[in-house]
Amino acid sequence: MSENSANLGLLAQRLCQIAGDGNVRTAEPLSEHTTFEIGGPAALFVTPGDAQEMRDCIALCRETEAPFFVLGAGSNLLVSDDGFDGVIIALSGMDGIAVDGCEMTCQAGVLLKDASEKACELGLSGLEFACGIPGTVGGACFMNAGAYGGCMADVLKEVTVITADGEIETLGVDVLDLGYRHSRIADEGMLVVSATFTLVPGDAAEIRAKMDDLTEQRTSKQPLELPSAGSTFKRPEGYFAGKLISDAGLKGFQLGGAAVSSKHAGFVVNVGGATAADVCALIAHVQDEVERQFGVRLEPEVRMLGF
Ligand SMILES: Cc1cc2nc3c(=O)[nH]c(=O)nc-3n(C[C@H](O)[C@H](O)[C@H](O)COP(=O)(O)OP(=O)(O)OC[C@H]3O[C@@H](n4cnc5c(N)ncnc54)[C@H](O)[C@@H]3O)c2cc1C
Repeated sequence: MSENSANLGLLAQRLCQIAGDGNVRTAEPLSEHTTFEIGGPAALFVTPGDAQEMRDCIALCRETEAPFFVLGAGSNLLVSDDGFDGVIIALSGMDGIAVDGCEMTCQAGVLLKDASEKACELGLSGLEFACGIPGTVGGACFMNAGAYGGCMADVLKEVTVITADGEIETLGVDVLDLGYRHSRIADEGMLVVSATFTLVPGDAAEIRAKMDDLTEQRTSKQPLELPSAGSTFKRPEGYFAGKLISDAGLKGFQLGGAAVSSKHAGFVVNVGGATAADVCALIAHVQDEVERQFGVRLEPEVRMLGF
Protein backbone atom coordinates (compact mmCIF):
# COMPACT_ATOMS: atom_id res chain seq x y z
CA MET A 1 0.00 0.00 0.00
CA SER A 2 2.74 2.49 0.95
CA GLU A 3 4.33 1.92 -2.50
CA ASN A 4 1.53 3.96 -3.95
CA SER A 5 1.57 7.26 -2.07
CA ALA A 6 -1.27 8.69 -4.19
CA ASN A 7 -3.57 5.87 -3.04
CA LEU A 8 -2.42 6.32 0.52
CA GLY A 9 -3.15 10.06 0.35
CA LEU A 10 -6.60 9.40 -1.09
CA LEU A 11 -7.41 6.82 1.55
CA ALA A 12 -6.18 9.17 4.30
CA GLN A 13 -8.46 11.91 2.94
CA ARG A 14 -11.49 9.63 2.94
CA LEU A 15 -10.72 8.40 6.45
CA CYS A 16 -10.50 12.06 7.56
CA GLN A 17 -13.98 12.64 6.11
CA ILE A 18 -15.28 9.76 8.24
CA ALA A 19 -13.43 10.23 11.53
CA GLY A 20 -12.26 13.86 11.40
CA ASP A 21 -8.86 15.31 10.50
CA GLY A 22 -7.43 15.06 14.01
CA ASN A 23 -8.18 11.34 14.19
CA VAL A 24 -6.13 10.11 11.24
CA ARG A 25 -2.34 9.82 11.39
CA THR A 26 0.28 8.51 9.00
CA ALA A 27 3.42 6.52 9.87
CA GLU A 28 2.22 6.10 13.46
CA PRO A 29 4.73 4.11 15.57
CA LEU A 30 2.90 1.03 16.86
CA SER A 31 5.43 0.66 19.67
CA GLU A 32 3.40 3.45 21.30
CA HIS A 33 0.20 1.42 21.10
CA THR A 34 1.33 -2.00 22.35
CA THR A 35 2.13 -3.04 25.93
CA PHE A 36 5.29 -4.78 24.61
CA GLU A 37 6.41 -1.30 23.42
CA ILE A 38 7.54 -2.97 20.19
CA GLY A 39 6.48 -2.46 16.57
CA GLY A 40 7.22 -0.34 13.52
CA PRO A 41 4.88 2.22 11.95
CA ALA A 42 1.35 1.82 10.64
CA ALA A 43 0.87 3.40 7.21
CA LEU A 44 -2.45 4.84 8.45
CA PHE A 45 -3.87 4.99 11.97
CA VAL A 46 -7.47 6.05 12.50
CA THR A 47 -9.42 6.47 15.72
CA PRO A 48 -13.18 6.32 15.04
CA GLY A 49 -15.38 7.94 17.68
CA ASP A 50 -18.44 5.70 17.45
CA ALA A 51 -19.92 2.57 15.91
CA GLN A 52 -21.00 4.31 12.71
CA GLU A 53 -17.52 5.76 12.10
CA MET A 54 -15.97 2.36 12.87
CA ARG A 55 -18.31 0.69 10.41
CA ASP A 56 -17.59 3.32 7.73
CA CYS A 57 -13.80 2.97 8.20
CA ILE A 58 -14.09 -0.81 7.81
CA ALA A 59 -16.38 -0.50 4.78
CA LEU A 60 -13.90 1.89 3.14
CA CYS A 61 -10.97 -0.47 3.74
CA ARG A 62 -12.96 -3.37 2.33
CA GLU A 63 -14.09 -1.35 -0.70
CA THR A 64 -10.54 -0.20 -1.49
CA GLU A 65 -9.02 -3.59 -0.54
CA ALA A 66 -6.69 -1.86 1.92
CA PRO A 67 -5.42 -4.25 4.61
CA PHE A 68 -6.81 -3.22 7.99
CA PHE A 69 -6.54 -4.32 11.60
CA VAL A 70 -8.74 -3.48 14.59
CA LEU A 71 -6.64 -2.56 17.61
CA GLY A 72 -7.72 -2.60 21.25
CA ALA A 73 -5.16 -1.81 23.93
CA GLY A 74 -2.43 -3.77 22.11
CA SER A 75 -1.94 -5.93 25.21
CA ASN A 76 -1.90 -9.26 23.41
CA LEU A 77 -0.01 -8.20 20.35
CA LEU A 78 3.45 -8.46 18.81
CA VAL A 79 3.87 -6.07 15.87
CA SER A 80 6.72 -6.62 13.43
CA ASP A 81 9.66 -4.23 13.31
CA ASP A 82 8.52 -3.26 9.79
CA GLY A 83 5.16 -2.21 11.16
CA PHE A 84 1.88 -2.67 9.33
CA ASP A 85 1.41 -1.58 5.74
CA GLY A 86 -2.28 -0.89 6.08
CA VAL A 87 -4.88 0.85 8.22
CA ILE A 88 -4.97 0.42 11.97
CA ILE A 89 -8.47 1.09 13.29
CA ALA A 90 -7.85 1.90 16.95
CA LEU A 91 -10.84 1.84 19.26
CA SER A 92 -9.51 3.94 22.15
CA GLY A 93 -12.06 6.67 21.31
CA MET A 94 -15.01 4.27 21.71
CA ASP A 95 -15.05 4.26 25.49
CA GLY A 96 -18.67 4.81 26.56
CA ILE A 97 -20.33 2.81 29.35
CA ALA A 98 -24.11 2.66 29.90
CA VAL A 99 -25.78 0.92 32.83
CA ASP A 100 -29.37 -0.28 33.05
CA GLY A 101 -30.09 -2.06 36.34
CA CYS A 102 -27.70 -5.01 36.47
CA GLU A 103 -26.78 -4.77 32.79
CA MET A 104 -23.71 -2.86 31.72
CA THR A 105 -23.07 -2.07 28.06
CA CYS A 106 -19.53 -1.05 27.12
CA GLN A 107 -18.28 0.20 23.80
CA ALA A 108 -15.48 -2.01 22.45
CA GLY A 109 -12.68 0.39 23.40
CA VAL A 110 -13.55 0.50 27.12
CA LEU A 111 -10.66 -0.81 29.20
CA LEU A 112 -11.56 -3.83 31.35
CA LYS A 113 -10.07 -1.96 34.29
CA ASP A 114 -12.57 0.90 33.79
CA ALA A 115 -15.50 -1.50 33.30
CA SER A 116 -14.67 -3.36 36.52
CA GLU A 117 -14.12 -0.08 38.42
CA LYS A 118 -17.51 1.20 37.26
CA ALA A 119 -19.20 -2.05 38.28
CA CYS A 120 -17.55 -1.87 41.70
CA GLU A 121 -18.67 1.76 42.20
CA LEU A 122 -22.25 0.72 41.44
CA GLY A 123 -22.12 -2.36 43.69
CA LEU A 124 -22.36 -4.77 40.75
CA SER A 125 -20.43 -8.02 40.97
CA GLY A 126 -19.10 -10.25 38.17
CA LEU A 127 -16.24 -8.29 36.59
CA GLU A 128 -13.79 -8.49 39.50
CA PHE A 129 -11.71 -11.15 37.69
CA ALA A 130 -11.06 -8.68 34.85
CA CYS A 131 -9.73 -5.74 36.88
CA GLY A 132 -6.06 -6.53 36.17
CA ILE A 133 -6.34 -7.59 32.52
CA PRO A 134 -4.91 -4.61 30.59
CA GLY A 135 -7.09 -5.08 27.48
CA THR A 136 -10.28 -3.60 26.07
CA VAL A 137 -13.75 -5.09 26.12
CA GLY A 138 -13.51 -5.80 22.36
CA GLY A 139 -10.15 -7.56 22.63
CA ALA A 140 -11.39 -9.50 25.65
CA CYS A 141 -14.49 -10.78 23.80
CA PHE A 142 -12.29 -11.76 20.83
CA MET A 143 -9.97 -13.78 23.12
CA ASN A 144 -12.56 -14.77 25.76
CA ALA A 145 -10.05 -13.26 28.19
CA GLY A 146 -10.06 -14.65 31.69
CA ALA A 147 -8.20 -14.80 34.96
CA TYR A 148 -8.48 -16.26 38.44
CA GLY A 149 -11.31 -18.63 37.58
CA GLY A 150 -13.47 -16.13 35.66
CA CYS A 151 -13.76 -15.31 31.97
CA MET A 152 -15.86 -13.20 29.62
CA ALA A 153 -18.18 -16.13 28.86
CA ASP A 154 -19.36 -16.05 32.51
CA VAL A 155 -20.64 -12.48 32.41
CA LEU A 156 -21.39 -11.68 28.77
CA LYS A 157 -25.03 -11.35 27.75
CA GLU A 158 -24.51 -10.32 24.13
CA VAL A 159 -22.16 -8.55 21.76
CA THR A 160 -22.86 -6.21 18.89
CA VAL A 161 -20.52 -6.92 16.00
CA ILE A 162 -19.77 -5.90 12.44
CA THR A 163 -19.88 -9.12 10.46
CA ALA A 164 -17.61 -10.07 7.58
CA ASP A 165 -20.45 -8.84 5.30
CA GLY A 166 -20.42 -5.42 6.95
CA GLU A 167 -23.73 -5.92 8.76
CA ILE A 168 -24.21 -4.83 12.36
CA GLU A 169 -25.66 -7.73 14.36
CA THR A 170 -26.28 -8.43 18.03
CA LEU A 171 -25.41 -11.99 19.04
CA GLY A 172 -26.25 -13.73 22.31
CA VAL A 173 -23.43 -15.31 24.29
CA ASP A 174 -24.83 -18.80 23.56
CA VAL A 175 -23.95 -18.53 19.85
CA LEU A 176 -20.42 -17.15 20.34
CA ASP A 177 -18.75 -20.52 20.95
CA LEU A 178 -16.57 -19.06 23.72
CA GLY A 179 -13.86 -21.44 24.95
CA TYR A 180 -10.34 -21.19 26.30
CA ARG A 181 -8.90 -18.13 24.48
CA HIS A 182 -11.26 -18.92 21.64
CA SER A 183 -14.41 -17.37 20.13
CA ARG A 184 -16.50 -17.42 17.01
CA ILE A 185 -15.74 -13.69 16.83
CA ALA A 186 -12.09 -14.54 16.08
CA ASP A 187 -12.92 -17.50 13.82
CA GLU A 188 -15.29 -15.53 11.60
CA GLY A 189 -13.48 -12.19 11.57
CA MET A 190 -16.29 -10.34 13.37
CA LEU A 191 -15.46 -6.95 14.84
CA VAL A 192 -16.88 -6.08 18.23
CA VAL A 193 -18.63 -2.72 18.51
CA SER A 194 -19.98 -3.14 22.05
CA ALA A 195 -20.74 -5.79 24.65
CA THR A 196 -23.38 -6.14 27.33
CA PHE A 197 -22.61 -7.85 30.64
CA THR A 198 -25.15 -9.27 33.07
CA LEU A 199 -23.89 -8.55 36.58
CA VAL A 200 -25.37 -9.26 40.00
CA PRO A 201 -25.99 -6.87 42.90
CA GLY A 202 -23.23 -7.10 45.49
CA ASP A 203 -21.61 -5.20 48.31
CA ALA A 204 -19.23 -2.53 46.93
CA ALA A 205 -16.76 -3.02 49.81
CA GLU A 206 -16.63 -6.78 49.21
CA ILE A 207 -16.20 -6.29 45.46
CA ARG A 208 -13.37 -3.81 46.13
CA ALA A 209 -11.70 -6.25 48.56
CA LYS A 210 -11.81 -9.01 45.94
CA MET A 211 -10.33 -6.72 43.29
CA ASP A 212 -7.58 -5.61 45.69
CA ASP A 213 -6.79 -9.23 46.50
CA LEU A 214 -6.54 -10.22 42.82
CA THR A 215 -4.37 -7.17 42.10
CA GLU A 216 -2.06 -8.14 44.95
CA GLN A 217 -1.78 -11.72 43.63
CA ARG A 218 -1.00 -10.39 40.16
CA THR A 219 1.58 -7.85 41.35
CA SER A 220 3.41 -10.42 43.44
CA LYS A 221 3.58 -13.08 40.69
CA GLN A 222 3.74 -11.23 37.36
CA PRO A 223 6.52 -9.01 35.96
CA LEU A 224 4.26 -5.96 35.68
CA GLU A 225 7.26 -3.64 36.00
CA LEU A 226 8.46 -4.61 32.49
CA PRO A 227 6.70 -4.29 29.10
CA SER A 228 5.14 -7.56 27.92
CA ALA A 229 2.03 -8.95 26.27
CA GLY A 230 1.03 -11.10 29.25
CA SER A 231 1.23 -14.88 28.97
CA THR A 232 3.19 -15.57 25.81
CA PHE A 233 1.87 -19.10 25.30
CA LYS A 234 -1.50 -20.78 25.65
CA ARG A 235 -1.86 -23.30 28.45
CA PRO A 236 -1.19 -26.71 26.86
CA GLU A 237 -3.67 -29.44 27.80
CA GLY A 238 -2.54 -31.03 31.08
CA TYR A 239 0.41 -28.66 31.69
CA PHE A 240 1.26 -25.09 32.64
CA ALA A 241 3.39 -23.25 30.09
CA GLY A 242 5.31 -21.32 32.77
CA LYS A 243 6.25 -24.49 34.64
CA LEU A 244 7.41 -26.28 31.47
CA ILE A 245 9.56 -23.28 30.53
CA SER A 246 10.96 -23.00 34.02
CA ASP A 247 11.66 -26.77 34.21
CA ALA A 248 13.44 -26.49 30.85
CA GLY A 249 15.89 -24.14 32.57
CA LEU A 250 14.84 -21.12 30.55
CA LYS A 251 13.86 -18.70 33.34
CA GLY A 252 15.77 -15.47 32.69
CA PHE A 253 17.04 -16.68 29.28
CA GLN A 254 17.66 -13.62 27.09
CA LEU A 255 18.03 -12.98 23.36
CA GLY A 256 18.72 -9.37 22.43
CA GLY A 257 16.36 -7.20 24.45
CA ALA A 258 13.81 -9.98 25.00
CA ALA A 259 13.92 -12.32 27.97
CA VAL A 260 11.92 -15.05 29.65
CA SER A 261 10.87 -13.30 32.86
CA SER A 262 12.75 -14.51 35.90
CA LYS A 263 9.65 -13.69 38.00
CA HIS A 264 7.16 -15.69 35.88
CA ALA A 265 8.52 -17.93 33.10
CA GLY A 266 5.21 -17.74 31.20
CA PHE A 267 5.95 -14.12 30.29
CA VAL A 268 8.41 -12.91 27.65
CA VAL A 269 9.42 -9.39 28.68
CA ASN A 270 11.09 -6.47 26.96
CA VAL A 271 14.08 -5.77 29.17
CA GLY A 272 15.09 -2.76 27.07
CA GLY A 273 15.11 -2.05 23.35
CA ALA A 274 13.74 -5.47 22.34
CA THR A 275 12.83 -5.84 18.68
CA ALA A 276 10.03 -8.03 17.36
CA ALA A 277 12.79 -10.17 15.80
CA ASP A 278 14.28 -10.71 19.30
CA VAL A 279 10.88 -11.79 20.65
CA CYS A 280 10.22 -14.14 17.71
CA ALA A 281 13.65 -15.74 18.08
CA LEU A 282 13.08 -16.19 21.81
CA ILE A 283 9.61 -17.67 21.28
CA ALA A 284 11.02 -20.15 18.73
CA HIS A 285 13.87 -21.10 21.06
CA VAL A 286 11.47 -21.69 23.97
CA GLN A 287 9.15 -23.76 21.77
CA ASP A 288 12.03 -25.91 20.48
CA GLU A 289 13.66 -26.42 23.85
CA VAL A 290 10.42 -27.29 25.67
CA GLU A 291 9.48 -29.69 22.87
CA ARG A 292 12.92 -31.30 22.92
CA GLN A 293 12.83 -31.84 26.68
CA PHE A 294 9.14 -32.61 27.29
CA GLY A 295 7.58 -33.41 23.91
CA VAL A 296 5.08 -30.54 24.20
CA ARG A 297 4.90 -27.88 21.47
CA LEU A 298 3.82 -24.56 23.03
CA GLU A 299 1.44 -22.44 20.97
CA PRO A 300 1.71 -18.65 21.20
CA GLU A 301 -1.25 -16.87 22.79
CA VAL A 302 0.13 -13.51 21.63
CA ARG A 303 -1.25 -12.39 18.26
CA MET A 304 1.22 -11.41 15.54
CA LEU A 305 0.78 -8.48 13.17
CA GLY A 306 2.79 -7.42 10.13
CA PHE A 307 4.92 -10.55 9.73
C1 LIG B 1 0.60 -7.70 32.03
C2 LIG B 1 -0.47 -8.44 31.25
C3 LIG B 1 -1.32 -9.31 31.90
C4 LIG B 1 -2.32 -10.00 31.19
N1 LIG B 1 -3.14 -10.84 31.86
C5 LIG B 1 -4.11 -11.49 31.19
C6 LIG B 1 -5.02 -12.37 31.88
O1 LIG B 1 -4.96 -12.53 33.09
N2 LIG B 1 -5.96 -13.00 31.15
C7 LIG B 1 -6.07 -12.84 29.79
O2 LIG B 1 -6.96 -13.44 29.18
N3 LIG B 1 -5.23 -12.04 29.12
C8 LIG B 1 -4.27 -11.35 29.78
N4 LIG B 1 -3.42 -10.52 29.09
C9 LIG B 1 -3.52 -10.43 27.61
C10 LIG B 1 -4.47 -9.33 27.09
O3 LIG B 1 -4.65 -8.29 28.03
C11 LIG B 1 -5.82 -9.93 26.71
O4 LIG B 1 -5.69 -10.93 25.72
C12 LIG B 1 -6.80 -8.87 26.19
O5 LIG B 1 -8.07 -9.44 26.02
C13 LIG B 1 -6.36 -8.25 24.86
O6 LIG B 1 -7.19 -7.12 24.63
P1 LIG B 1 -6.67 -5.88 23.78
O7 LIG B 1 -7.78 -4.90 23.73
O8 LIG B 1 -5.39 -5.38 24.32
O9 LIG B 1 -6.46 -6.55 22.37
P2 LIG B 1 -5.29 -6.28 21.32
O10 LIG B 1 -4.00 -6.77 21.89
O11 LIG B 1 -5.35 -4.88 20.85
O12 LIG B 1 -5.72 -7.25 20.15
C14 LIG B 1 -5.69 -8.65 20.34
C15 LIG B 1 -6.58 -9.29 19.26
O13 LIG B 1 -7.94 -8.89 19.50
C16 LIG B 1 -8.46 -8.29 18.32
N5 LIG B 1 -9.40 -7.24 18.71
C17 LIG B 1 -9.17 -6.16 19.50
N6 LIG B 1 -10.28 -5.43 19.60
C18 LIG B 1 -11.24 -6.04 18.85
C19 LIG B 1 -12.58 -5.76 18.54
N7 LIG B 1 -13.22 -4.68 19.01
N8 LIG B 1 -13.26 -6.63 17.74
C20 LIG B 1 -12.63 -7.73 17.23
N9 LIG B 1 -11.35 -8.03 17.48
C21 LIG B 1 -10.66 -7.19 18.28
C22 LIG B 1 -7.27 -7.73 17.58
O14 LIG B 1 -7.58 -7.55 16.21
C23 LIG B 1 -6.23 -8.81 17.86
O15 LIG B 1 -6.35 -9.87 16.96
C24 LIG B 1 -2.43 -9.81 29.79
C25 LIG B 1 -1.57 -8.91 29.14
C26 LIG B 1 -0.61 -8.22 29.85
C27 LIG B 1 0.28 -7.25 29.13
